[in-house]
Amino acid sequence: MEAKREITISNCICYWIIEEPSGSKSIGTCKKCGNTKEFFNYTDTSVWSSEYNYDTITE
Ligand SMILES: [Zn+2]
Repeated sequence: MEAKREITISNCICYWIIEEPSGSKSIGTCKKCGNTKEFFNYTDTSVWSSEYNYDTITE
């Protein structure tokens, strides 16, 4: 009864893998959908392992 489902970006609860920091920001790549997004270079790395969506990043 299981149906194979494809994850779409719109449905994806992105799991961000943060690359090495470049300046004050880092590039995060979603482990699930491959989407990329800029992240601030947080010092609290604990948030990086959580499911986070930053739709509005302002400086
Ligand atoms: Zn995603």
